[in-house]
Amino acid sequence: VLPPREDLDADAVARPAVVTIMGHVDHGKTSLLDALRESAVAAGEVGGITQHIGAFQVPLPDSGTSLTFLDTPGHAAFSAMRARGASLTDIVVLVVAADDGVMPQTREAFGHAAAAGCPIVVALTKCDREDCDLERVKRQLMAEGLELEESGGNVQVIATSATTRAGLPELETALLLQSDLMQLRASPTRPAEGTVVEARVDKGQGPVATVVVQRGTLTVGDVIVAGQEWGRVRALRDARGESLDSAGPGTPAEISGLKGAPMAGDELVVVPSEERARRVSEKRSERAYLSLVNRKAK
Ligand code: GDP
Repeated sequence: VLPPREDLDADAVARPAVVTIMGHVDHGKTSLLDALRESAVAAGEVGGITQHIGAFQVPLPDSGTSLTFLDTPGHAAFSAMRARGASLTDIVVLVVAADDGVMPQTREAFGHAAAAGCPIVVALTKCDREDCDLERVKRQLMAEGLELEESGGNVQVIATSATTRAGLPELETALLLQSDLMQLRASPTRPAEGTVVEARVDKGQGPVATVVVQRGTLTVGDVIVAGQEWGRVRALRDARGESLDSAGPGTPAEISGLKGAPMAGDELVVVPSEERARRVSEKRSERAYLSLVNRKAK
C-alpha cells in the first residue's frame, strides 16, 4: 500500500487535507474543535447539530473544497494511531494559548508533528483575553525552532478566539493554503482504503466505526476488512447523521455492518468477497493471538 500522499494513480484528483489539533492541556483544543464543528454546521444547507463521530468535515464554500478534522484532540490519540502504523494526518494545528505561551506539551506536540513529517500551522488561541501577548509567544515559538512565515519561514501563525470566533476563517484559509502546497491527491475510483479513527458497539446498530477514506470510494454494500474485523457496509453516515451513498478520498464516515468493533488506527480495505474478508480477518485474529501467547511465554 502506497502512502496516501504519494498517490500515483492516473485518475488521482485533489482531496481534502486531514487535520489533527494538538497542544498543551487547557490551551483551547476542544474549544477550537467545537468552534470549527459549528462552522461546519453553518456551512451546510441543513441545520442541526453535529454528533461526535471522531471526525468531521468543514466545507470551504469559496474554494469548492473542504477540510477534514480529526475530532480527538491531544497527543495520546495521535501517538496511538502512529504506533499502529497509521499515517492519516496531513497537517497538525499546534494550539498555543496566547496568554500562556509555549509549555511542555507544546514542545511534545511539535516533536510528534516533526517525527511524523507533518507540516504545522500554529493557532494562537484565547486572543480575546486581555493578558494575551502574541509577540511574546511568537518569540518563544522561534526559540523552539519553528520557522515562522513572518520571519521568512513557512509556518503560518493565526491569531484566533474560540469565544468570539475571530480568526477562524483565517485559520481555515491557512490550512487550505498549506494543503494546496502539499498537492494532496487520491484516486476516487480504486477500491477504498482508509483508517479507523473511532469505533464502538451501538445498542441498536451493533458495531459502528468512523473511518476516514484515504484513497478510492467507500460505498454501501462494499465488503470490508478493518483490522481483525470484517463485514459488509450496511450504512454510511456523516457527522450530521445524514446518510451517504458513498464516501470519497478525505471524507470521514461512520459505517455500520462490521461484525465487531475495530481499533483506532486500524487500516480499512475493501476486498472482493465475503469469503476473502472472513479469511483475512481469521488470519489476523490468529496472528494476534499467537503474538499474545508468545509475549506471555517470554
Ligand atoms: P483543551 O484542554 O486544550 O482542550 O482546552 P479547552 O478547550 O478545554 O479550554 C480550556 C479553558 O480555556 C476552558 O475554560 C475554555 O473555556 C477556555 N478557552 C478556550 N478557548 C478560549 C478562547 O478563545 N477565549 C477564552 N477567553 N477562553 C477560552
